[in-house]
Amino acid sequence: MKYPSYISLCLLFLLVACQNGAAPSQEAENRNGFSVEETAFGSTPEGPASLFTLQNKNGITLKVTNFGGILVALWAPDRNGKLADITLGFDSLSSYQAEHPYFGSLIGRYGNRIAKGKFSVNGKEYTLAINNEPNSLHGGKLGFNRRLWDTKILESETYVGLEMKRRSPDMEEGFPGNLDVTVRYLLNNQNEWIIEYEAQTDQETPINLTQHAYFNLNGAGSGSINGHELMIKASRYTPVDATLIPTGDLASVEGTPFDFRTPTLIGARIAREHQQLTYGMGYDHNWVLDRTGDGLELAASLYARESGRFIEVLTEEPGLQFYGGNFLDGTNIGKGGKAYQHRTGLCLETQHFPDSPNQTDFPSTMLKPGETYKTKTTYRFSTK
Ligand code: BGC
Repeated sequence: MKYPSYISLCLLFLLVACQNGAAPSQEAENRNGFSVEETAFGSTPEGPASLFTLQNKNGITLKVTNFGGILVALWAPDRNGKLADITLGFDSLSSYQAEHPYFGSLIGRYGNRIAKGKFSVNGKEYTLAINNEPNSLHGGKLGFNRRLWDTKILESETYVGLEMKRRSPDMEEGFPGNLDVTVRYLLNNQNEWIIEYEAQTDQETPINLTQHAYFNLNGAGSGSINGHELMIKASRYTPVDATLIPTGDLASVEGTPFDFRTPTLIGARIAREHQQLTYGMGYDHNWVLDRTGDGLELAASLYARESGRFIEVLTEEPGLQFYGGNFLDGTNIGKGGKAYQHRTGLCLETQHFPDSPNQTDFPSTMLKPGETYKTKTTYRFSTK
């Protein structure tokens, strides 16, 4: 009789120990204030899409769909704690499936332009779709922003996140090699949206992944971004030709409207006579970041005096495309029925330089079999 009761005591002890083991992490999750929810978002040719809502203890909320890795909404507090959705986008999946200028999109295989849609790898020429005459833009006709991604929800003591995976097959959109891509969107309680990109290939291919969120720190659809104050930590930029392909030059920003080394209103010099502003129809250029090493470094910051919202962009990438929403013209009707007018949203896209596969002096974007493409960008939200 003694034995069974000893065993049952042990079992009871084990049960209590297990429960105690599980309980703290559950509590910790609640204590840390993270939540994550998945809801249906509609159907795509590749299957049903979901909408994931990630939230931290401060109420920062990211809404992301695995159709195109699109950031659908981003709620952040102003200096009085009032939340607003500060990213441009749509209410429904069907609008994202129609033509739009890459709102919130995950961009690949190649962010920005490749001249005339042509590049060579080891002497072999590849041809991409010309979807931005006369060049290829943001990965072609059916880029990563129009594909359905496999997902896994990530939960830890310090962040909540979404992992997205996809194999981009050999010759998809004309790019060589099967490319296995993983992208993670993480949200922590320091109010950082961390983006981790990873990829491996079985044939040499160019790769340049980025995120194309449009920000308006006073709220999506609330007016011009020309009153936002921008800082870009770059003493050089890559001037372009009339088709927005870099000339190959790394030009000094000194004395030009491209000098954002100290925070400057975007609109302050936008009307100046400058050939580069004419070509871009405003700001639509790649800045060469002043870096001290390979790690995560501050690249840019953006501030709106009205709301007090402030974003810092940190990256491991060598470049930053600042696109000032020059092609927005009111034809895109966004969330809540708001028309997105000229320059009412802007993108800060961390990247390697445009057209690198054809520019031997630019940092290489070629990924070889056996190597891992790994890069990270953080958008940090606060107020002043
Ligand atoms: C490009 C612009 C383009 C926009 C989206 C930006 O990354 O630099 O030229 O119009 O994306 O449509």
